[in-house]
Amino acid sequence: MNDLAQHIQTISLADTHEHLYDESQYVNSGPDILQDLFDRLYITADLVVAGAAPAAVAALLDANNPDLEARWSGVAAAWEHCKYTGFGEAVRLTARRVYGMDDITVPGLYAAVERNALLRQPGERLRILRDEGRLDYVQIDSKTWSCLPDPAGSDFFLHDLSWYFLSNGEIDFDAMRQETRIEVTDLKSLRSAFEALFALYAPCAIAVKSQHAYRRTLLWSERSDADAARILQQMLRGETISDAERLCMGDWCLARGVELSIEHKLPFKLHTGYNARYGEMWIDRIRPGHLCALLQRYPQARFVLMHIGYPYADELIAIAKHYPGVFVDMCWAWSIDPHSSVDFLRRMLHTVPVNKLFVFGGDTWWPNAAVSFAQQARTWLTRALQAEVDAGLIGEGEGIRVATRLMSTNQAECFAIEDKRAAIRAYQPT
Ligand SMILES: [Zn+2]
Repeated sequence: MNDLAQHIQTISLADTHEHLYDESQYVNSGPDILQDLFDRLYITADLVVAGAAPAAVAALLDANNPDLEARWSGVAAAWEHCKYTGFGEAVRLTARRVYGMDDITVPGLYAAVERNALLRQPGERLRILRDEGRLDYVQIDSKTWSCLPDPAGSDFFLHDLSWYFLSNGEIDFDAMRQETRIEVTDLKSLRSAFEALFALYAPCAIAVKSQHAYRRTLLWSERSDADAARILQQMLRGETISDAERLCMGDWCLARGVELSIEHKLPFKLHTGYNARYGEMWIDRIRPGHLCALLQRYPQARFVLMHIGYPYADELIAIAKHYPGVFVDMCWAWSIDPHSSVDFLRRMLHTVPVNKLFVFGGDTWWPNAAVSFAQQARTWLTRALQAEVDAGLIGEGEGIRVATRLMSTNQAECFAIEDKRAAIRAYQPT
């Protein structure tokens, strides 16, 4: 291993996007051996695309059934077709690193059961991520507003304040009242409730996050208070609203979220590009280019655009080159399409200032999966930067300095990590 590869393998890596289940969920209903290999790694979608029956995939993940052979048999043929995808690579990395399996076999699965049980103990989740993954911290999106110091490791587990449903114009008035003690009756009280959410949770939040690209187009336009107020009254009366009205409400709420993120100095993360799962993706809705009006309206905001906008990587590079407030996060991208991610990183390096790119987030739920995605990212990042060195475009020492920047410095600057950790340590509940 040369110095560049050694450096990328060993330094601490910032993980800017996960959905990790919390400590109690991990300990009390953590992944059994087949779940540790296949659950929440997105490979289940590849299996169905390859031809596995959805029911067979559901059976594979059914930890209540101790018959591992029966669970495996329904997907074994499809697995042969999925081994080489980025998601399949992550499965194989977990099999090898955690369970010593070079390939998945029924005797191997039964032999791994004991090891799996040993890992599902209190504190193991943190140890796996921090010590085996060499992750500096993880940023977690649990699709909730609440962001308080995490008792499992307040310096390590950092949380996003979710703006997902609001950006789609979905407002849970009961939950809003419970969180903020504000009864929403009009636009003014809705604004007050939003401000109260930020007052409660922004101090410990690492960012604001929305993945509304799963539910609507990313295309945004400025909406008037008058239109939003009219639709809000319909919603409060329990009337169904049209798709166009929901978009209007979503645009209005998203804008207020961005304004509050500016006020509270939090980056705003947006899902762009590819949709997880299978069988439903509106390819035109997910283009990062749809965000231009929003980026132009709020030049003082820090937007983190995620997942290389796949497959609209070119559009995302152009946006990152053009808008000073935009940062680019390669989270999940290495496992969606590793070769495109290598290409993306190399093109970013020669197109966009090098302080704008974050290289990793696993985008997953269980710790071993996150560590395997981290291992995958380190390996493919090495290939990308080594290719730059081999082509004579950068020296090895430059490659090492670029790697450090992409793996940790840029994230530390954008998210003001040390200030945030200090704020979390100093946090006093009110
Ligand atoms: Zn995600």
